[in-house]
Amino acid sequence: MLYKDTRDTSVAVDFRTAVLKGMNSKTGGLFVPETLPKLPDHLLSKCTVPTFREIALETTRLFAGSEIPDADIQSIIIDAYPFPAQVVPIDRITYVLELFHGPTCAFKDFGARFMARVMSYFNKDEDDLLHILVATSGDTGSAVGSAFHNVPGLDVTILYPTGKISPLQEKQLSTFTGNVRALSVDGTFDDCQKLVKTAFTDEQLRKRFRLSSANSINIARLLPQSFYYTYAAMEVKHRCALDNKIENPAVIMSVPSGNFGNLTSGLIAREMGAPITGFIAATNSNHTIPDWINSGIYEARPSVQTYSNAMDVGAPSNYERIRYMYSYDQVRNLFASYWLDNPGTLNAIKKCNDLTGYIIDPHGAVGWQAWYDVIHGGMEKLIKGEKTNPAEPGLTPNVPEWGKAVLNKQAVGVVLETAHPSKFGEIVSQAIHKEPPIPDRLQKIMKLPDMSIKMKNDYATFKEWLISNL
Ligand SMILES: *Cc1c(COP(=O)(O)O)cnc(C)c1O
Repeated sequence: MLYKDTRDTSVAVDFRTAVLKGMNSKTGGLFVPETLPKLPDHLLSKCTVPTFREIALETTRLFAGSEIPDADIQSIIIDAYPFPAQVVPIDRITYVLELFHGPTCAFKDFGARFMARVMSYFNKDEDDLLHILVATSGDTGSAVGSAFHNVPGLDVTILYPTGKISPLQEKQLSTFTGNVRALSVDGTFDDCQKLVKTAFTDEQLRKRFRLSSANSINIARLLPQSFYYTYAAMEVKHRCALDNKIENPAVIMSVPSGNFGNLTSGLIAREMGAPITGFIAATNSNHTIPDWINSGIYEARPSVQTYSNAMDVGAPSNYERIRYMYSYDQVRNLFASYWLDNPGTLNAIKKCNDLTGYIIDPHGAVGWQAWYDVIHGGMEKLIKGEKTNPAEPGLTPNVPEWGKAVLNKQAVGVVLETAHPSKFGEIVSQAIHKEPPIPDRLQKIMKLPDMSIKMKNDYATFKEWLISNL
């Protein structure tokens, strides 16, 4: 399989290059698979639902089979995924896809753990360590740190802004030993990112160390996220006959989004033949994409802070991949799009709990409310041509092709729950007046000693530190 550059179609690289480079630094473009192969029939038409790992294996074969032998793909999958993606029904036509059963309790574990093992595989014949530098404003750093911890041949330095991430997030970053360490930088997230970017362009450092990033734009983080879409869509189709007597339902994925990597992975799964009918692109007050879907004008903007902070992205990088894959009209036919503000998010956490008993986190809550509104009159209004105001929270006025299926009661929704509610315990308890239970693996982390290293926000100091410590 070859990978093309979104900005220069004459570029074609193999999987190894796409993974180790992350992006094409010459053009600033992102890598996308040249074609999206179909998943094999024996997988899609099985009478029983294949396991998550079976799907992971078959999908990876298609993308990397010519470069990684089958036995190695199998070890990568087994080692990356000792935890499940779980489908939980919360009412007759709504399922939650729980993506928080990994070590850091957020969906980024799925992408980061796969990427770490693939990078390690491609690095195995090198004598030198591959040094990963990553700046984080919270969740990415912990997923990456955890994913690369003890993975052979790799070494990770995480930079985070002192005092600007939650205490739990800080614990998740700062308690690693061995090949992963965290620098607590006296500055903002942007300062951290600048230090990392400057290091990547520093010829002297690059001669000395093999450097790489673990950025969310890496194709090795997107592909594995398609596994759980395929799994969930098949599982839901299978269960529907029992749960709600709908034969052959339209399966709609409601995806709480920031950088739109997760949603792009869903598009990949659908193109490969997963039984997904459509998507709801759900954002918080950073509604760059809903505005684009409404007006056709894409306008990146500075991000604003919200309760669903992992979605606080004003310039979603995967817009570029979505545009590479689809025309504007195709997007409007495939997606409903929706945004929700902070008061709406609190209300959604409460309402979801009141109606279903399920405790949802502030990110998942945005997706849940979007689906709830679609099936409780929202789609009907759009089909009747009633205007919506894009400056207010809610749906944008485009009617996706699957809109009719909602009216005909042939649609079921899958809400992606991207983080465990206890990671955002304060906000959740503000909404429902009880604390979500904290999983053991998070409680354990709270007790570990802080190993972070204080770092001045100064490139010369940072570089000096890298040279003496890596
Ligand atoms: C990163 C993240 C998101 C947003 O995912 P994108 O792929 O950036 O759209 C949503 N929820 C949580 C909990 C996250 O960590």
